[in-house]
Amino acid sequence: MKDSTIYDVLIIGAGPAGCAAAQQLSGKGLKIALVEKYRFPRDKICGDALSPDVVKQLKLLDPQIADQFSQEARRSNCYGLRLFAQKGAAMDLKFPEIAESKAPCFVMRRLDFDHFLFKTVASLDDISIFQEQSIYRIDRVDAIWELHSSDSTFRAKVLLGADGAQSKLRSSLLQAKIDKKHHVAGLRQYFQNVKGMGARGQLELHFYPEIAPGYFWIFPLSEHEANVGIGMISASISKAGVNLKERLAQLIKEHPQLKARFAEAQALEDPRGFGLPLGSLKRPCSGDGFLLLGDAAGLIDPLSGEGIGNAIRSGRVAAEHLQKAFKEQRFDAEFNKAYDREIYRRMWNEFRLSVFLRRIIFYFPLYNRLVRYGGKSRFVRNLLSSIIDNSNFKKSLFSPKFYWQLFRA
Ligand SMILES: Cc1cc2nc3c(=O)[nH]c(=O)nc-3n(C[C@H](O)[C@H](O)[C@H](O)COP(=O)(O)OP(=O)(O)OC[C@H]3O[C@@H](n4cnc5c(N)ncnc54)[C@H](O)[C@@H]3O)c2cc1C
Repeated sequence: MKDSTIYDVLIIGAGPAGCAAAQQLSGKGLKIALVEKYRFPRDKICGDALSPDVVKQLKLLDPQIADQFSQEARRSNCYGLRLFAQKGAAMDLKFPEIAESKAPCFVMRRLDFDHFLFKTVASLDDISIFQEQSIYRIDRVDAIWELHSSDSTFRAKVLLGADGAQSKLRSSLLQAKIDKKHHVAGLRQYFQNVKGMGARGQLELHFYPEIAPGYFWIFPLSEHEANVGIGMISASISKAGVNLKERLAQLIKEHPQLKARFAEAQALEDPRGFGLPLGSLKRPCSGDGFLLLGDAAGLIDPLSGEGIGNAIRSGRVAAEHLQKAFKEQRFDAEFNKAYDREIYRRMWNEFRLSVFLRRIIFYFPLYNRLVRYGGKSRFVRNLLSSIIDNSNFKKSLFSPKFYWQLFRA
């Protein structure tokens, strides 16, 4: 099928980034199409943790979406973090500055969360949606993009690449390759009957030297089911010749802090992997007639591995930028650099702080001390809470007072 329409904006990928951009561009008098490789509901390999930032981004996207999300039965409430260190040390942290009665964070299968977001876009009259269309070739003819799937051709003035970590747009239009130092390989495996999950739905993060730099997680989906996984920096995996699937199986079977908890657990699937391009590297995220969003732009937090919040945030920033672009009829690379600047103005400091915090965590004498003493010190607990909460608290890391207090703790 050759669609004769020339869209103003063609969004490739209907994950959180693509759906957020479509939401924000709706109602602006533009002709918009959203093209997606799969049919929803579709799975996405992920830890399924929706941090406080995701909840905030949904509200900023549209308070009505946040309201609909609050009625979602398929999410499970989560009130904090449980951090594990060597020799059985563990401590619980609450997310700061959130009332006890309201869950600040959720775990929800991406099968369900992405479907929820997708449905909010599908209900909009001015977004044309094409599912089961995998874009494999991108051409440009007289300033009009032509995108080809196996059975269709789509034409547009501007492209938004929201096609995830293996972005076809990124590799075709920026000739970009994976930089393994700024990339994590992750595995997910759903389990049932994992013992000892916290009564308050805590997200468990296990930091051990044998999987550094990286971590093992258990994120409870219900009393009985959990999203279990492991992620490690790709360069370290290559350097040490790690087989990630074997490492995951070994941890579950043999690690002194895990084996009893998994003794009667059943895996609900084989481990499945996907990449996480980290925001520890500033990458170009636009060019002549196109912008990249979410994982396609490499906007995953370098410490926690979260990317859903920033994917939605980038969708909002892209929509704001495009409104200016259409007003001024400027789609050139120079004009689009303002998008890159805005993305990094909003996210770069957080990324830098996460890289800094990662150094602390993977310096095990210090991390183990943090976990051991965290139980006694509110100051240390607040610091560690900021791992997946984007609070200003991380800024205190740059203060000498912090280290003075830490070693007195
Ligand atoms: C193992 C693992 C664990 C993670 N855990 C978490 C977590 O717990 N919390 C968190 O916040 N983040 C987590 N992340 C990161 C998170 O999954 C991503 O940051 C987030 O999904 C990015 O959203 P996106 O919309 O940019 O891309 P995606 O969600 O990947 O969406 C991209 C969309 O584009 C479509 N697409 C791809 N190629 C094409 C094509 N050629 N043509 C048409 N469509 C195409 C895909 O089908 C998909 O629907 C994890 C990632 C991994 C791999």
